Amino acid sequence: MTTTEKHDLLIDGEFIPATSGERFVTLNPATEEPITEVAAADKEDIDRAVESAHEAYPKWRSTAPEERGRLLTALAARIREETDYLAELETRDNGKPISQARSDVEGCARYFEYYAGIADKIHGDSIPLTDKYVDYTVREPLGVTGQIIPWNFPVNLVGRTIAPALAAGNVAVAKPAEQTPLSALKIGEFALEVGIPPGVLNVVPGFGATAGASLAGHPDVNAISFTGSVVTGRQVAKLGADNVTPVHLELGGKSPNVVFPDADLDHALDETITAIFATNAGQVCSAGSRLLVHESIHSEFVDRLATRASELTVGPGLEDPDVGPLVSSDQHRKVREYVEIGREEVGDPIVGGKTPDHDGYFVEPTIFDDVDNSDRIAQEEIFGPVLSVIEFSDEREAFELANDVDYGLVAGIFTSDVGRAHRFAHEMEAGQVYINEWFAGGVETPFGGYKQSGFGREKGLEAIESYTQVKNVCARIELE
Ligand code: NAD
Repeated sequence: MTTTEKHDLLIDGEFIPATSGERFVTLNPATEEPITEVAAADKEDIDRAVESAHEAYPKWRSTAPEERGRLLTALAARIREETDYLAELETRDNGKPISQARSDVEGCARYFEYYAGIADKIHGDSIPLTDKYVDYTVREPLGVTGQIIPWNFPVNLVGRTIAPALAAGNVAVAKPAEQTPLSALKIGEFALEVGIPPGVLNVVPGFGATAGASLAGHPDVNAISFTGSVVTGRQVAKLGADNVTPVHLELGGKSPNVVFPDADLDHALDETITAIFATNAGQVCSAGSRLLVHESIHSEFVDRLATRASELTVGPGLEDPDVGPLVSSDQHRKVREYVEIGREEVGDPIVGGKTPDHDGYFVEPTIFDDVDNSDRIAQEEIFGPVLSVIEFSDEREAFELANDVDYGLVAGIFTSDVGRAHRFAHEMEAGQVYINEWFAGGVETPFGGYKQSGFGREKGLEAIESYTQVKNVCARIELE
């Protein structure tokens, strides 16, 4: 395949090189070979992109909401038409198995469809204030919005962050991750093709410290949606604070997957594999990276899990294995370092832990058993196919361990006891709770963190709240 034809910055409807002329190489993580070179945006390019968005804003904002919806529906259809192309592009750039990339493209199209349908249903309330007044609220767009996107779900997160912004009448400047810029550029190209006006969606690949920081700190950006690590999220929030720009943070996780003996254990086993190994090699913010298992089933469940994990196929994403390579050499090194930390903390893993002896950023599915919840491998986000298993003896202990972590993105439980499942949902300090299925929910269900996992909600109707502001209008109609 010819990856993408346009590797320049998309600003004001034109693909143009960076002002500095700088380019960076994006690699195929399965081979470590270059795919292509991409223009690297710097502060001046971000300024141009923000200016173009500003100019496009009044017209887009006043475009009839139903027409905005029609354009987003057309974009969704265009994305679906190119599913094969986009999925292959994503797999080459990110490494993930091709069937998972296809499902990410499908998710991206769904976001545009879902928010297209909402574009003409964003409205306010009327508030009764005695006969002397008429009072109502109007939900208005924010203006220029910036989306800073990570590398783990590049195409999917374009849909998740940009579709609600545009549906609500905002314009967008998207900064994809430097590791995986290609699919976002292609979506920008499709947006132009279907008639979304120039400047409404700008795509400016580049590095975090330059392009990302310039966008987050830009005085003419009216809202930032940041998805990425906690460390960067803090920096972005500080940059936003200087301009009193609202910043929405979708950060990391260390989510508990709690298995009780009364669960359907075959199903819990399948879901545990999906939760940490067979989805993007564990590079998922909502991965089930801590398995809390009851003492009465611990050894049998973990033995079966180890067997299943050792049977997973690991290989290049285009061959559609269970587990593809990690995204980059940095991520590869970080995950291998955590495997070494695990060896020091709890001894050898019961399965995996090795790095295949060939090119590509591969790590075997790895399980550490008998982990203490205070160990680093139980507390810190590894972001790879590494599972920490922790035993518990009763419900109270399980729930306390589940919450005993700085993060609070998701929490999952496997049990046939309905009361216990809802007690769990009630007690979890997490933005989403899964009962008897990991990664449950869809584009319709709000998503976001408690604690260090961030604030604000994406997906569902809540994303429209994040991308709008409320104006109250109060009129005195009875003069004394
Ligand atoms: P990262 O924070 O390093 O980078 C994310 C994005 O921020 C990239 O586009 C990067 O270029 C940019 N960036 C880096 N430094 C910046 C700066 N100083 N100012 C502005 N932008 C900057 O994160 P990552 O390693 O690419 O992504 C993995 C992290 O993302 C994990 O912690 C994961 O849990 C999290 N994540 C969260 C969600 C969620 O919805 N909560 C979803 C996916 C990933």
